[in-house]
Amino acid sequence: MAAPPIPAAKPVIGDEEVAAAVRVLRDGRVVQGPEVAAFEQEFAALVEGRPCIAVNSGTSALQLALMALGIGPGDEVVVPSFSFAATANAVRLAGAEPVFAEVDPDTFCLDPDAAAEAVGPRTAALMPVHLYGHPAPMGRLTQLAQRHGLALVEDACQAHAAQLHGRPVGTFGDAACFSFYPTKNMHTLEGGLVVVPDEERARTLRLLRNQGMEQRYENEIVGANMRMTDVAAAIGRVQLERLAEWTQQRRRNARVLDLGLETGLVAPRAADGARHVYHQYTVRVRGGAAVRDAVQARLRAEGVGCAVYYPTPIHRLKPYAHLGAELPVTDRAAAEVLSLPVHPSLTPGDLDQIVAAANRAVAEAGGIR
Ligand SMILES: *Cc1c(COP(=O)(O)O)cnc(C)c1O
Repeated sequence: MAAPPIPAAKPVIGDEEVAAAVRVLRDGRVVQGPEVAAFEQEFAALVEGRPCIAVNSGTSALQLALMALGIGPGDEVVVPSFSFAATANAVRLAGAEPVFAEVDPDTFCLDPDAAAEAVGPRTAALMPVHLYGHPAPMGRLTQLAQRHGLALVEDACQAHAAQLHGRPVGTFGDAACFSFYPTKNMHTLEGGLVVVPDEERARTLRLLRNQGMEQRYENEIVGANMRMTDVAAAIGRVQLERLAEWTQQRRRNARVLDLGLETGLVAPRAADGARHVYHQYTVRVRGGAAVRDAVQARLRAEGVGCAVYYPTPIHRLKPYAHLGAELPVTDRAAAEVLSLPVHPSLTPGDLDQIVAAANRAVAEAGGIR
């Protein structure tokens, strides 16, 4: 009998998560109550104590962060095209227009030189993504933002507890956004959170997530309903306690894969000073999309869950194709990347199987050896 397949991701919903959810449901204070406040306070420990505003998704976090910074119609926001569509969708939802720039071919994060070229008279913000859990080059991006008077928003939806030169992601920007979707490094079923440097902006975000109200029925501005439930927050508090351990395990798993993979598969590289948290362990398969797809099919046939994030760069998706961006580095990445399982539930046996299957698959698929 074949062993059960190794899943590409494995969200944890254990006894403690269930107990936390039941506790809140029995308590009855289920939306924007004490659990949400406690979750925000506890998450702040990851971002040097900055104010945290929990919302209902990472996409909501990005949209509200832009709105709180006054970015909207007539503004452009420079984003990488090599990301999940939510990065650009949030810009559009805020009423602004994304401008796509290239990524670094080694780290897959926004290239500061390309971002500089994309800056124009309407540019209001830069929104780098800490893709796959690797921090974007925030030093150079901060300089670029300061030089042109731009806001800087971190899309940290894949990068809980990642660091750059010892400084946690989420503390570089005028705002930073996290997601707690089930497959992320920690989850709240659905959820998101915005980190900001100051209380004044935090207040604006609290208004925006709740109909513009601080006092009930005294609406001050136009806001949305993007509140987090207390069930979600209670689950998040349980997950937060284990995030450090899970992050270490992801990093250990990545080391095992690094050492085991042979040529033909290019292991992910971390930039100088980067603490990569391996939301995804993403290799490049040399030889283009046909070889990559063959490797993926063989791995799946051997019971190794793997996936392509993202097969179509955002600039080629229907809502954005008319902008006509030309991004060869991004197109090549989309044709070559393949993400192998790296989640903390993997056993040593799973890791051996992934390494063996990947090396075999690339040899058989005709990847360059
Ligand atoms: C998951 C993700 C988002 C959106 O988060 P949701 O919670 O799914 O709305 C945004 N950007 C990136 C890079 C993501 O991976």
